[in-house]
Amino acid sequence: MNRDCVFCKIVSGEIPSKKIYEDDTVYVFEDINPVTPIHWLFVPKKHLSGAGEITSENSDAVAKIFETAASLANEHAVGDYRIVTNCGKGAGQTVFHLHFHLLAGRQLGEMV
Ligand code: AMP
Ligand code: ZN
Repeated sequence: MNRDCVFCKIVSGEIPSKKIYEDDTVYVFEDINPVTPIHWLFVPKKHLSGAGEITSENSDAVAKIFETAASLANEHAVGDYRIVTNCGKGAGQTVFHLHFHLLAGRQLGEMV
C-alpha cells in the first residue's frame, strides 16, 4: 500500500470505484474517463509503479491479470479488444501504479 497512490486507495476501498472483479491478486474496475464504450483497468493489488518494475519475482501477478482479462472478456462478451499499458510520462502514464487498460465496444483505430 502506497499512501500517495490513487489506485492503492481504490484497491483498499478508500476511494470508490465501479468494480468489475477482484481476487487476492487482481482488482478490475471501470475507468473514470472511458475512451471506449468498455474501458476497464486491471491492477495488481500489490503496488508496482509501472511495467518497468516487472521482474521474475512479481510477474505472476501480470500473468494473473492477463488470465483474468481473457476470462472477463469472454464472460462479458465484449467482442474484440485491446490491452495496453503506458510506461512513463512520455508514454502517457498518469497514474504510477501498474495498470492495463482493456478497450472494447467499438472499432479501434491505430495504436498511436
Ligand atoms: P494512464 O494515463 O495510462 O496512467 O491511465 C490512468 C487511467 O486512470 C486514466 O485512463 C484515468 O481516466 C484513470 N483514472 C484516474 N483516476 C481514476 C479513478 N479514481 N477511478 C477510475 N479511473 C481513474
Ligand atoms: Zn499503488
